[in-house]
Amino acid sequence: MSTVDLTGQVALVTGGAGGIGAAVVRRLAKLGARVVVQDVDREGAERVAAAVDGLAVAGDASDPSVLPAVVAHVESQFGRLDVVHLNAGIGGGQRGVDALDVSRYRKLVGVNVDHVVYGVCAAVPALRRQGGGKIVITASLAGLAAMPADPLYTLTKHAVVGYARAAGRALEPEGITVSALCPGFVDTLLLGAAKEEFDAVSFPLLTPDDIAEAVQTVLAEGGAGEAWIIQPGGRTTAYQFRG
Ligand code: NAD
Repeated sequence: MSTVDLTGQVALVTGGAGGIGAAVVRRLAKLGARVVVQDVDREGAERVAAAVDGLAVAGDASDPSVLPAVVAHVESQFGRLDVVHLNAGIGGGQRGVDALDVSRYRKLVGVNVDHVVYGVCAAVPALRRQGGGKIVITASLAGLAAMPADPLYTLTKHAVVGYARAAGRALEPEGITVSALCPGFVDTLLLGAAKEEFDAVSFPLLTPDDIAEAVQTVLAEGGAGEAWIIQPGGRTTAYQFRG
């Protein structure tokens, strides 16, 4: 297992009050980081932050003004930012291709795609001031493969995998890495009813701790612009893109 010492470093996790995000917050704190827990769920963020002596910041990360303000607040409080995990996300929740609920679709794109762009744009100047840094994005296996049960979720996760690859290559010369995590099904609230339907043989159910383990590996070893498949136990394999 690869390890990394984050002592003295500051990390920001969006969606940090939820299943995967909360496990990552605990892992980053265990590795020595001071962790900022960002979430639309204020109480949850405060509870998770309190357990690791971190800082909770409530707000809707899909609002373009929120993450720039959070990054400014983090820098003013702690003087630095080193690790950013853009993890907040919601399910598509729309079956079928042609039955479009436009407001749900805009919300889905806002959280799963826009918040990632706003987070990267807000974080990069702060990471640059530290001479480099690490950005991790929670994408999904639906960012690499088709999930016919949820085409719009598939759309958003393909978008962030492409963005991570391109932004990662663009930022690599500055010592800033961007990595996309592509887990299959993870046992969290987001999985919801789909938990009953998934094919456990093809897709073993992952735990939030598996993803935290993968984050640790990616922080220790991750290069720029790569996507990572995650297996039970947090074993992490770089996805081989063709071209
Ligand atoms: P979860 O619902 O347990 O946690 C998501 C967290 O994001 C919640 O705390 C929620 O309050 C927060 N959030 C939602 N909208 C937000 C917003 N606008 N601003 C700030 N915070 C917001 O779900 P999870 O499974 O832990 O999901 C985390 C990430 O993992 C998501 O990006 C999801 O798409 C991805 N993912 C999940 C699975 C799975 O099977 N659970 C698989 C692959 C990828």
